[in-house]
Amino acid sequence: MKRKKIVIIGAGPGGLTAGMILAHRGLDVTIVEKRDRVGGRNAELKVGDFSFDTGPTFLHQKFTLDEVFVEAGAKAEDYLEFVLLDPMTKLTWGDLTLETTCNIEQMEKNIEKAFPDHGSGYRRFMADHAQKLGAIYPCLQRPYHELKAFLSTTLMKAIPYVATGKSVVDVLENYFHDDRLKLAFTFQAKYLGMSPWRCPALFSILSYIEYRYGIYHVQGGLCKISEAMAKVFEKNGGTLRLSTPMKEVCWSGSCATGVRLENGELLECDDVIMNADYGNVVTKLLNGRSRPVEEIEKKKFSCSTFMLYLGLDTIYHDEPHHHIIFADDYRLNVQDIQGERIVSDDMSVYVRNSSITDPNVAPAGQSGLYILVPTINDRYGYDWEANKHSYRDKVLDRIEQKTGMKDLRSHIIAERILTPVDWRDEADVFMGATFNLAHTLDQMLYLRPHNRMKGTENVYLVGGGTHPGSGLPTIYESGRLSSNMLCERHNIPHTRVDLAPQFV
Ligand SMILES: Cc1cc2nc3c(=O)[nH]c(=O)nc-3n(C[C@H](O)[C@H](O)[C@H](O)COP(=O)(O)OP(=O)(O)OC[C@H]3O[C@@H](n4cnc5c(N)ncnc54)[C@H](O)[C@@H]3O)c2cc1C
Repeated sequence: MKRKKIVIIGAGPGGLTAGMILAHRGLDVTIVEKRDRVGGRNAELKVGDFSFDTGPTFLHQKFTLDEVFVEAGAKAEDYLEFVLLDPMTKLTWGDLTLETTCNIEQMEKNIEKAFPDHGSGYRRFMADHAQKLGAIYPCLQRPYHELKAFLSTTLMKAIPYVATGKSVVDVLENYFHDDRLKLAFTFQAKYLGMSPWRCPALFSILSYIEYRYGIYHVQGGLCKISEAMAKVFEKNGGTLRLSTPMKEVCWSGSCATGVRLENGELLECDDVIMNADYGNVVTKLLNGRSRPVEEIEKKKFSCSTFMLYLGLDTIYHDEPHHHIIFADDYRLNVQDIQGERIVSDDMSVYVRNSSITDPNVAPAGQSGLYILVPTINDRYGYDWEANKHSYRDKVLDRIEQKTGMKDLRSHIIAERILTPVDWRDEADVFMGATFNLAHTLDQMLYLRPHNRMKGTENVYLVGGGTHPGSGLPTIYESGRLSSNMLCERHNIPHTRVDLAPQFV
């Protein structure tokens, strides 16, 4: 039988996952990637001699990554060196700090030290969330392209956790009365680019997954994951074409017959998988089926990030690998971001100092600091060009005040700034909303763009803009779900690998 031809647009984590799985299942897969490297927002960013992760720095739910490698006939450990971080993250509110760990006894001790009498609330949180995850996790493993999926017993079991109308902060009211400790269990909403006060209650599983199963670093940076996926893809017979932007889909009715590249070349195929950012796909790449920008702008989008990538001529050995410094008025900071207009001077700052764990990312004796400040997306066109240098100074002031890096400025020897406008223009992120469509209840499950695009027979979505959502493990899952649907269309058998059977 003739092998089915598949073209994937984009070599981000979603496209690479689908590519390596489908190539392993014997399909003839080509990935076309606009940029000169793989990884998308998960690509390596070089600044002088320093190597940074452009985006993701926390790998949680590692078992999902392991699963998609196995589904592609490979073992993640053969390609990547994982380091379970313990301690995980230092959290700072003014003078108070909490060091988080996935060691349950140690975490309870740390909580008791910083927040006396809150240890038992932590124990209850962990016990309740083991059950909650068991109910919700299976819902994230199936597609919601048909309304009947909404009536499935899997979703029915999760309904008490999903349809509550509550936020993750509301959930934490049941466990802790100190607002700062509630934040230690809800700031993970930021991984979805959301406010903890608005992020649906079901996402309290995020902090549970982190505190129960830990977070990992990958030596060389998390960008190595995408590079490893590309190797597996090519080993499985896939064709990777870098620096090859795609222009538009070619149609026969609701069926895609191929894609046209920017250079005019036509790639005929049986199915198309879109990993490019959802907002751009539907407004720019659908050739006659594209939707007006104004219509898509009506959807809710995540926040953006202001980034500093600093090369230093020293290593701050006493500073943690991950450090989150909360805004003095965190709630106001989050409100500013959700309002999409005000850039907070009292900002929250995340600093990643991976050189204390990883000798591969900077020259000997030197280090790279990755600094992320959650901020407004580009909906109302803030003038970053005029303001980015002064904002950079405010961010550095805050780090010098709140950490042991009092002389940070004097050690900077290489530097790159990335603003929401750069995310929009250089990384093709619609509205610079780095975490894609917001994860509100009206944009989730059946109500999120489907894994097979509505109204088409053979165009699939993968990545943060489709189900289950943004974040590496969920994006890997989207790659797997869409691959499975595509295989079902062509009667290609496949077996799902589950390395976390306790949830399934
Ligand atoms: C700053 C930041 C920090 C993050 N931190 C974390 C974290 O710690 N942990 C976590 O789990 N998640 C994190 N995320 C979220 C998420 O995991 C990443 O954004 C992830 O890389 C998104 O993957 P994706 O497959 O959806 O898309 P992308 O990574 O954006 O990949 C899409 C690809 O499509 C390509 N493309 C676009 N248009 C075309 C075209 N016309 N033709 C050909 N190719 C095209 C792009 O060049 C790109 O390579 C973070 C995101 C950001 C931005």
